[in-house]
Amino acid sequence: MPNSAQTQLNHLLTLRIIELTILTLAFSLAVRPLFTESSDILQLAALLALVIVIGFYFVVRSNMIPKWEITLSLLIALIIILPTLTISGGVNSQVAYFLPLYPILAALIGGTKESVVITIILVVYTVIATVFGDLITDLTDEIDSREKSLDRGFWLTTTIVFSAFFGHFFLRKYAELTTKLNEENTQDPLTGLLNRRGLNIYFSIELKKSLLTSSPLSLILIDVDYFKKINDQYGHDIGDICLIEIGQLLKRNLKNKDIIARFGGEEFIIILPNTNKDEAALTAEYLKDLVSKETFSEFNLALTITLGVTDYEKHDDNALNMTKRADKALYKGKENGRNRVELSQ
Ligand code: GH3
Ligand code: MG
Ligand code: MG
Repeated sequence: MPNSAQTQLNHLLTLRIIELTILTLAFSLAVRPLFTESSDILQLAALLALVIVIGFYFVVRSNMIPKWEITLSLLIALIIILPTLTISGGVNSQVAYFLPLYPILAALIGGTKESVVITIILVVYTVIATVFGDLITDLTDEIDSREKSLDRGFWLTTTIVFSAFFGHFFLRKYAELTTKLNEENTQDPLTGLLNRRGLNIYFSIELKKSLLTSSPLSLILIDVDYFKKINDQYGHDIGDICLIEIGQLLKRNLKNKDIIARFGGEEFIIILPNTNKDEAALTAEYLKDLVSKETFSEFNLALTITLGVTDYEKHDDNALNMTKRADKALYKGKENGRNRVELSQ
């Protein structure tokens, strides 16, 4: 889920950047002749750049190459920028001022790998352009001294590398923040288990998987028996500790593939991929016995749970119906005396 949101954001960023490039190129093409007597070859290069960027914009827009759009957009930008740079005076060219932006852009819309590739290309190019500065044709006739070229080459390389580091750190922070936000959004603060939102994400993934692979999928809904009494007798704090301990006990005794979440107050829900109803009933019995044998909090309180079990019926079934069926079975378990496992009809 987070990945697809990130891909969408990257896609959007790429589009915005290409749109900006189109506007800048078109504007400079229209306005430049008014101020400078630029050579035909430069005008032609800019026009070609505009055509390539517009073409590329439509390719990205229509999702024709979703995986390669980012790297390609940057490489094409480089292919346009570097020759323009070469024919307009190397590191003395004003086009060179754009270069330090590229590692950041590459990190933002591509990632660390793209940023490293582009930084290496740019640094190698800048060093070559500085060392062989004398050989570069300066069509703009802005001939600077050799000393100035070296100076500019040095600062250009420094800013490119700095920009690469900036992009890298930004990306790391961004990834850290999105991971933290995702965790906060999907975690129950009391028990540390998944909350309803987290559950919904994994539940829908497992439902799709089950449908595609025709593998079984089961659900167990759990409610702690007479929990109100614990709160009334020992206080809410102790009740909270019991909930944390029950949650951890259940989680520790499930398989890695199983998904457990806090469903609400003193209710838990477990999704069991690749498990049919009979197998899920065995797991439920095992968990029920486990809880009844354990004691909770510093008061060594004995608690029991009632569990409702159902499975994915595929045809016309969904998460809501499954939960309703499990809840109905759970209710039956309460009616039949609690500390029980009950299967849905
Ligand atoms: P039974 O389910 O067996 O019918 O009885 P019960 O007493 O557990 O049922 P009921 O639904 O009436 O009460 C559930 C109680 O769980 C009510 C509420 O005080 C308590 N509860 C819900 N959420 C929390 C929580 O986060 N912390 C604590 N300490 N108690 C909670
Ligand atoms: Mg309840
Ligand atoms: Mg209860």
